Amino acid sequence: MANLLLTNRCLRACPYCFAGRELEPGGRGTSVSWEDAVYVADFLFRSGEDRLALLGGEPMLHPEFVDLLLYFRARGLHLTVFTSGMGPAATLRALEAHLPAFDGDTLQFVCNLNDPEQTPPARGEPARVHRFLTAFGPWVMPAFTIYRPDFRLEFLFDLIGQHGLTRHLRLGVAHPVPGAPSRHVSPAQYREIAGRLCSYRPLFERFRVKPGFDCGFPMCQFTDAQLGWLQRLCGEAARFECGAAIDIAPDMSLYHCFPLSRFQRRSLYEFDTLADVNRFYDRLRDDLHAELPGIFEECDDCIQRREGSCAGGGACHLMSRMIGEASVRLPEIDRALADVGVPGRARTD
Ligand code: SF4
Ligand code: SF4
Repeated sequence: MANLLLTNRCLRACPYCFAGRELEPGGRGTSVSWEDAVYVADFLFRSGEDRLALLGGEPMLHPEFVDLLLYFRARGLHLTVFTSGMGPAATLRALEAHLPAFDGDTLQFVCNLNDPEQTPPARGEPARVHRFLTAFGPWVMPAFTIYRPDFRLEFLFDLIGQHGLTRHLRLGVAHPVPGAPSRHVSPAQYREIAGRLCSYRPLFERFRVKPGFDCGFPMCQFTDAQLGWLQRLCGEAARFECGAAIDIAPDMSLYHCFPLSRFQRRSLYEFDTLADVNRFYDRLRDDLHAELPGIFEECDDCIQRREGSCAGGGACHLMSRMIGEASVRLPEIDRALADVGVPGRARTD
């Protein structure tokens, strides 16, 4: 699946945001044009792809958000909208009016929710999010980003019950942005985070909510008993992946994922199909893993990595480490990074 950033404008300022380099806080931001939206739909059709995720910033801030949604649907695409829930009131009204155009699994919202006590909300955020969840609850999968080991999930179960959200919770961790300061989870914190997450087992079971992991979780930080519980609850083994998100920015530039947006950045116009794009960014990850197998020493000869059950943590961590260690690893690393088109020591931001 590809992700299209409809606009790089956002109304929140989450402390863990790893998309910050791509956003324009304040101001009008940059929005996808109709011409490029049509190009993306043609590109996906040519690629045999029928899914598209719409991102921002806040995608509902695109001035023609509802029309774009209807257009992409008319092109046969199944749509996932990643949102903060902070859409303009007029957009939400128009969206409600057009909901009957979508059925079954053709439209889903994934709403990233912050704990109002641990993460101070933006101005007007609670009221706007409440309005969004009230109107679209059954279409909304709740999502949460872990950026501190003492995170709390109680408020999410309250929202799931109150608004009838889907009983699948998408869990992400805050990732580092190589070459830039960012608030993120360090490898040493993952075990504590896994334990805290599993301490919510009674609530997950009582509300029959299935947790799902976004990229970058390391499998070995869960005990066998915890993995068994996750598998029983979800009906399938949890996935511990790091794969190209394929983000398409409003100007049609293209990158692996937000944290790696400055590395191997290309234009969508350089590729013929999505498979070509995926192959290109797979090489970036392979080159990084050739230097550092994973975020822990143990990743080197780990059977889970060899068998493909765990990616060895996020490539964003590996890139951060290489940049941080460049002064002691040069010149070999500098050469290797340059060979794969990655800015080395002299060229980082
Ligand atoms: S590959 Fe690395 S992170 Fe994944 S399970 Fe093995 S040691 Fe842990
Ligand atoms: S490098 Fe991998 S783990 Fe890190 S944000 Fe990108 S896809 Fe996720």
